[in-house]
Amino acid sequence: MECKKCKALIPKGEERAHKNDVLCEDCYIDVLSPAVFCDPWASFTAESFKKNNRTTAFTESQKIILKVLRETGGLDSNDLAENLKDQISWEDGERDCAAMHRMGEISFENRNGAVFICIKE
Ligand SMILES: [Zn+2]
Repeated sequence: MECKKCKALIPKGEERAHKNDVLCEDCYIDVLSPAVFCDPWASFTAESFKKNNRTTAFTESQKIILKVLRETGGLDSNDLAENLKDQISWEDGERDCAAMHRMGEISFENRNGAVFICIKE
């Protein structure tokens, strides 16, 4: 399987599905990482986060994500999306995750080859 983004050959079992694309693990982390995430909304949130105190800076959907992550101890994006689907769309969830990663609230961890989204200790 070829990575949609960097065209690298992905070893069997290490494909990561992102939306309708198949990505290698590096690109997948890239996509989820706010380092390459240039959503003005995310920067805006990060800015307002600095100005306000921690509890009021979170949006409702971010609070939901943090609650799920706290209860589960971290989930990969598929499981997180599954957990959130009744409450928020994964489009928003993904954006919130990137924004909160930028705030330093959550981290992306590699656990047994899967990318897990976790609360940063
Ligand atoms: Zn790639």
